[in-house]
Amino acid sequence: MEIRISSEPTLYRAKFVVPVVADPIEDGALITSGREVWEVGPYKRVKKGFLGAEHDLGEVILMPSLVNVHTHLELSALKWRLTPSGSFVGWVKSLLRARSQISAGEAQKAAQEALKEMWHEGIGLVGDVGNTGLSIHLLREGPIPAVFFREVIDFTGRLNLKEFLKEGLEDEKITLSLAPHSPYTVSPVLLQAIKSWTRRFGLPFSIHVAESPEEVEFLLTGTGPIRLLLEERGQWNPNFKPPKMRPIPYLDRLKVLDAETICVHLVQVEGEEIEILARAQIKPCICLRSNTFLGVGIPPVPEMIEAGLKPCLGTDSLASNDRLSIFAEMETIHRFFPHISPKTIVLMGTLWGAEALKRPDLGGIWRGFRADLVALKLCEGTPKDLYEYVITVPKGEIIRLYG
Ligand SMILES: [Zn+2]
Repeated sequence: MEIRISSEPTLYRAKFVVPVVADPIEDGALITSGREVWEVGPYKRVKKGFLGAEHDLGEVILMPSLVNVHTHLELSALKWRLTPSGSFVGWVKSLLRARSQISAGEAQKAAQEALKEMWHEGIGLVGDVGNTGLSIHLLREGPIPAVFFREVIDFTGRLNLKEFLKEGLEDEKITLSLAPHSPYTVSPVLLQAIKSWTRRFGLPFSIHVAESPEEVEFLLTGTGPIRLLLEERGQWNPNFKPPKMRPIPYLDRLKVLDAETICVHLVQVEGEEIEILARAQIKPCICLRSNTFLGVGIPPVPEMIEAGLKPCLGTDSLASNDRLSIFAEMETIHRFFPHISPKTIVLMGTLWGAEALKRPDLGGIWRGFRADLVALKLCEGTPKDLYEYVITVPKGEIIRLYG
């Protein structure tokens, strides 16, 4: 169900409002005007003196829409086509093979379906990564605000970034940025060039990092299945000297880690490496359901939170996940890490994701935030912990409220 928020000032009342940026409010209400939230609080106070239209949503939890910081819509046609082989590089190879057999029309149709799924799953902001640009016009025409990261893959050192930027990164509706694929598929100089470009324009920079044991092996020794894959694909650079460092210290030495860097995965992270990440205030993006599908390991999420980092959530693509659902990701985080508070998990799925994508107007409900909301029907009377209810109770229909 969808409710288009009126452009006239309107009051929405709900059994509970969970603003995320403030404590939950029982018998709460908010007033919207156009796309913005004007006022939030207990119904009685918000109602006082308000003469506009009123809409009672009833027995629902009203919360901000969710944020999927990392996916690849253009890979959606690979849903159910790949099985984990026990080897990360084996999976990459089968992905490349399967992808080459998919027509542009099929890829487009699947991406459209996936976007629709995200909308129905209550997602109101997405970070989409692609190297074909296939999803750009879908995002532009669709209802979900987005950051589109054009993915750069070049380990040979031959790619000229200036040529790449000529493709045009101007767009009114969606934010466009660049994302180097990973430390093992992008040469060190190119990694630094991309970071200096995104830094100059104040854009988020996103990179897959510390995902598999094979990535660690390659950076430490310059050998292993990743080296063979680069050779097979004509991507090996004979001048490359392995840094003999693990992924996090390597990116730190290249000076690409800062508060505008989204580090996707962070599975292969050890003790003092978390301190490096915390010092740089990077944004960890956890894709736990993808990690478990590929069998690469489990990211140390509680340690990240303890160090003061604010992890956000991504689904990665349908080539390593069966759903693009942040509700499903939150539930999985809760199952794997029962000691992380449900409130923190909801922050990961909303506000912290919006911060990572540099959209301070999304991910919360407060004065000045964009009115992009989700209402969840309550089926069990009053829940003991609203945050826990949000992440664990099977969702019936999700009502979307948007401007
Ligand atoms: Zn990814």
